[in-house]
Amino acid sequence: MSDRRILVAGGAGFLGSHLCDRLVDRGDHVICVDDLSTGRSENIAQLAGHDRFEFVEFDIVGSGLDASISDGVTDVMQLASPAAPPEYLRRPLDTLAVNSTGTKHLLDIAERHGARFFLASTSEVYGDPLVHPQVEEYWGNVNPIGERSVYDEGKRFSEALTMAYHRANDLDVRIVRIFNTYGPRMQANDGRVVTNFVSQALNGDPLTIYGDGNQTRSFCYVADEIEGFLRLLDGPHTGPINIGNPNEFTMLELATLVLELTGSGSAVEYRPLPSDDPKLRQPDITRARELLGWSPEVQLREGLGRTIDWFRSSVFASD
Ligand code: NAD
Ligand code: UDP
Repeated sequence: MSDRRILVAGGAGFLGSHLCDRLVDRGDHVICVDDLSTGRSENIAQLAGHDRFEFVEFDIVGSGLDASISDGVTDVMQLASPAAPPEYLRRPLDTLAVNSTGTKHLLDIAERHGARFFLASTSEVYGDPLVHPQVEEYWGNVNPIGERSVYDEGKRFSEALTMAYHRANDLDVRIVRIFNTYGPRMQANDGRVVTNFVSQALNGDPLTIYGDGNQTRSFCYVADEIEGFLRLLDGPHTGPINIGNPNEFTMLELATLVLELTGSGSAVEYRPLPSDDPKLRQPDITRARELLGWSPEVQLREGLGRTIDWFRSSVFASD
């Protein structure tokens, strides 16, 4: 048992629900706040009824959340935002609102409670990067009026707001820049590459490769990512700190691995590359290694295997 009371906004989502599990497990009290727009109550069903877990259904863009919180909070963690490109492209104004007004509401709550504030930012702040691998000192290459800007600039604004509260109001803050994370509880139809490829392979449908498939991403398994969050949250460093797995793969390599691990005979099909799709992405994790003593332990083959097992036993169980 601890005396920490941690508000997790976006706690019913993919990453948020794994985070809630870890926090409750280690003895913290969790107040999970979510509007269930892309999250699901099944993600937190295992915590329902636990005496150190509360769920508050709330859209953080609206005001008045503080009134729904019974006691004080020691930490406020902001993970609420659409995260998959098809989702934030479908709801551009909501994406900007949650990453501006929503983040501000949570910063105000942290300030009122004297709590530490933790922001889930993203590798997308580096845009289509001209520095490779991406170090935290790099300011990024974002198209401010492109379709993806609602997410990229939204997160950049969230970072700016967080640092302004830190500098002007002395708020204790942490910023993590998350690189493509995958694992159980991803939503099968979220349109991200891992979920698309795994669902397509298990259904026997063609794997859809956007562009020529030579663009790269570096995929981090969810358990590693959450361990990185906790080390940053509990440690003395403000960040931003990249948390991701530096092993880099082309989308063609990912497709080949998914086909091998699922044993699927699916074909591969090429589709147009979405606009402003970053060509390369790989985290430099020197800061995470040196300041947090963190590095990822689960490599893609093993993590994908676990993810495929989960998809088989839950999403595709009745097929
Ligand atoms: P997710 O969509 O599963 O989780 C986001 C959660 O936020 C959902 O449960 C959703 O219902 C909730 N939410 C959205 N808008 C809200 C609002 N206005 N009020 C209350 N709740 C709201 O996505 P995820 O992959 O778990 O991402 C979690 C966070 O991490 C996001 O902020 C995302 O930008 C960031 N991130 C994720 C990745 C990744 O690879 N998964 C990479 C970079 C950054
Ligand atoms: N992608 C793909 N096929 C898909 C979905 C995505 O080739 O069915 C590509 C996408 O164009 C991008 C990469 O995979 O280059 C990662 O996409 P995702 O949406 O998972 O995350 P992003 O890193 O772009 O936010």
